[in-house]
Amino acid sequence: MKTPVIYFDNAATTRPDQDVLDEVIACMSEEYGNPSSVHALGRRARVRIEESRRTVARLLNVSPAEIFFTSGGTEANNAILWGCCLGLGYSDVITSPVEHPAVLNPLVCLAEKGIRVHHLRVDQTGHIDLAHLKALLAEYPRSLVSLMHANNEIGNLLPVKAVASLCTAAGALFHSDTVQTIGKLHMDMQKLGMDFAVGSAHKFYGLKGAGFMYVRSGKFFPPYLLGGGQERNMRAGTENIYGIAGMAKALELAHQRMEEDQHHCRSLKEACIDLLRNEIPDVHFNGDAEGSSLHTILNVSLPPTVDAEMLLPSLDIEGICVSSGSACSSGSSQGSHVLNTLGADETMPSLRVSFGRHNSMEEVRKLVQVLANIALP
Ligand code: PLP
Repeated sequence: MKTPVIYFDNAATTRPDQDVLDEVIACMSEEYGNPSSVHALGRRARVRIEESRRTVARLLNVSPAEIFFTSGGTEANNAILWGCCLGLGYSDVITSPVEHPAVLNPLVCLAEKGIRVHHLRVDQTGHIDLAHLKALLAEYPRSLVSLMHANNEIGNLLPVKAVASLCTAAGALFHSDTVQTIGKLHMDMQKLGMDFAVGSAHKFYGLKGAGFMYVRSGKFFPPYLLGGGQERNMRAGTENIYGIAGMAKALELAHQRMEEDQHHCRSLKEACIDLLRNEIPDVHFNGDAEGSSLHTILNVSLPPTVDAEMLLPSLDIEGICVSSGSACSSGSSQGSHVLNTLGADETMPSLRVSFGRHNSMEEVRKLVQVLANIALP
């Protein structure tokens, strides 16, 4: 298969950084002991995991005892939702219709088990109605609130501190799916005030199959995965030491170069918006693209004359990788649940362009030129 030349699907996954790969390969060849074994190789593997935990904790300004490694964002979200609802007995969940399927689908299942799931109103730009949240919290103060930090399809950012204050005032728990923001924004958990957050290494230039959950001290819940006593009984299963060591390295690198990466991706996103507006007058940007939005994500709707079925294949032929929204929902014929919630014009085919540190301005120009050729043949 020909290697794709232009990769604009960084919200689906990122290309692992070379320093991360070096770390992972060294770890794979040297640290093959089981971290639960008491002999020297096991102890070395354990040390590697605990060093990684300290690194992640330091970068998020939390205690290492509040970080639990998982297989990724999906598992971490599930563990928190199931643990709080069925384990701690939280029978009301306040969430939004634009969450990732890794939150929406467990909640469908929990609703079948009798948990009441309340969906917040979302405005046309994709922002959550905080007055509605306040009203629901007044009615159901002992709730679990689950709202994502940055939307993976449109990039909208949640005012996390404001939500955390409302939850604290009501006595509710606050979980935020932070998969798209960990490694992209400075996340001081003490200042942000959420009780639970989640990370996924492959979104910030680490490997797939490694992630973590942050659980604020005192807010522990019964585990979702049962087995050995790994992760202090919060997540059974032999630890993915290679993925974990790579994730700590990736997060460290992401923090070292955060301002540089932010500036770079923001410039690409802004240029993409300007160039598309110039080239395709009827283009539309979904969400709050030029407002409170993550610098890595841009959701674009093209004029109805564009053949929706052919859009991604046409880009693919040109060697350009983008997606139609969430990686999980791309390929689904039902369209995006996020764009449907916003009331986006269904006749306009949409695509998500997501930027990363490896992209260049030249690639943005090429993308816009190809899109203009498709839109205005
Ligand atoms: N939550 C959000 C917002 C995501 O974007 C994703 C991945 O697309 C996930 C959760 C799932 O994470 P993982 O791939 O680590 O299971």
